[in-house]
Amino acid sequence: MSQKIDDKYEHDRAADKKIKLKIIYSKKGCIAAGHCVLSDPYDFTLDEDFKADLVDGVQGQGAQKDVYTKIIETNEPHLAINAAKTCTPRVIAVFDVETGKRIA
Ligand code: SF4
Repeated sequence: MSQKIDDKYEHDRAADKKIKLKIIYSKKGCIAAGHCVLSDPYDFTLDEDFKADLVDGVQGQGAQKDVYTKIIETNEPHLAINAAKTCTPRVIAVFDVETGKRIA
């Protein structure tokens, strides 16, 4: 059964609709497969151990020091959404800032 995609998050360059997303990435669980970088090379890079880094992500403190957070405003929300969906250990989460809802 195919899952219906919320068309709010579909890419529509002509409409140039911007969506504000919050990306939360937990580096501790990264298994260094690199799918996130292939899906969203603007927000993810690989470090020297081939683990992902969230570009310009803000590092948490204390027990959250392996958690990185970033807010983006984009007309290509599918990139970050696909990064989260293709991450095998599911250590990337994407929220719609406007609704507060987790979308990936
Ligand atoms: S897709 Fe997930 S496991 Fe793979 S490199 Fe990115 S964060 Fe790490």
